[in-house]
Amino acid sequence: QAKAKGRNTYHFYSQDLDEAANERLYIENELRIAIKAQQFTLYYQPQVNSESGEVLGYEALIRWFHPSEGNIPPSKFIPIAEATGLIVELGAWVLEEACHFSRRLKAAGKTANISINLSARQFKDAQLISTLSDIIHRTGMEPTLLHLELTESMLMGDVEAAIIQLRDIKALGVSLSIDDFGTGYSSLSYIKRFPVDILKIDRSFVKDIPEDPNDMEITAAIIAMAQKLNLQVIAEGVETEAQMAFLAKNNCYIVQGYYYSPPLSEAEILRFAPAM
Ligand code: C2E
Ligand code: MG
Ligand code: MG
Ligand code: MG
Repeated sequence: QAKAKGRNTYHFYSQDLDEAANERLYIENELRIAIKAQQFTLYYQPQVNSESGEVLGYEALIRWFHPSEGNIPPSKFIPIAEATGLIVELGAWVLEEACHFSRRLKAAGKTANISINLSARQFKDAQLISTLSDIIHRTGMEPTLLHLELTESMLMGDVEAAIIQLRDIKALGVSLSIDDFGTGYSSLSYIKRFPVDILKIDRSFVKDIPEDPNDMEITAAIIAMAQKLNLQVIAEGVETEAQMAFLAKNNCYIVQGYYYSPPLSEAEILRFAPAM
C-alpha cells in the first residue's frame, strides 16, 4: 500500500517537474523572441506623500503582453531572465525606457523620481556603470531623479565589492533603495555600511496591519531604525486607510500601494497625474 502510494507520488512529482521544466524552457524561448519583438512595456506605480497627497515618484514595473498567452507576470519570467542572463539586455531596455519616460513626464510639467528594479545579475555586471552613464547621457535623464532598487541578498556575499559598486552608482548622482526590506538576510551592521538612501518596507509586514501586533512592532522598528540611520523609508503594498494611518503615526509618510493607485500605463499617468 505504502509503496504503491509512494510510487504514485513519485510519478506525479516527476510529471510536475517535467511540466515545470517545459514551462521554463517555453518561457526562455519566448523571452528571446519577446525582446526582439518588443512585447514589453513599463507600468508606473505612484509613490505618494500620504500627508500632502503629492506624487513624489513612480516605480517602473515591467509588463509582458504575450501575443497568445496574454499577460505574463514578472514573478514568472524575471527569475528565468535572471537565470539565463537575458535580464542584462532586458534590464538595459527597462533603464532606457524609464529614462525616456522621465523626460516625457518632465516635458508634461510633472517632474518626479523614477525608481527602477535592478536584478542581481545586472548589479554584478562589470558593465553596469558604463551602461548607466551611457543611458543617462543619451536620454538626458536627470540622474538625481533616478532611483535604483536593490535587494538585501544582492548586497550580501561579497560585501566589499557591493560597497564599491554602490559608490560607483552614487557617483553618477543616482539614489539607491533597498527593496523588500526585512525579508532578506542582511545584517543590521552592514546596512550602516552600504551607501543607500531609502529603505522600502516589504509588503509582507504591511499586509496584516492593523490585525497583526508582531507586524506592527516590526514595521515601527524598521521606521525608527531608518530614521536613526538617516534613511528615507517607503512602505510598499499599502492597501487600506488603516495601514496608511498606522504608518503615518509611526513617521512613515511615503507610501506605495493599491490604496493610492495600482501601477498605471504612461497614458494614464500623463492624463491624470496632477502637475507638480
Ligand atoms: P517589487 O519591486 O517589490 O514591486 C512591487 C510589486 O508589488 C509589484 O508587482 C506591484 O504591482 C505590487 N504591488 C504594488 N502595490 C501593491 C498592493 O497594494 N498590493 C499588492 N498585493 N501588490 C502590490 P509586480 O509588478 O508583479 O512585480 C513583481 C516583482 O517583479 C517586483 O517586486 C520586482 O521584484 C520584479 N520586477 C518588476 N519589474 C521589474 C524590472 O523591470 N526589472 C527587474 N529586475 N525586476 C522587476
Ligand atoms: Mg521594487
Ligand atoms: Mg518591493
Ligand atoms: Mg516585493
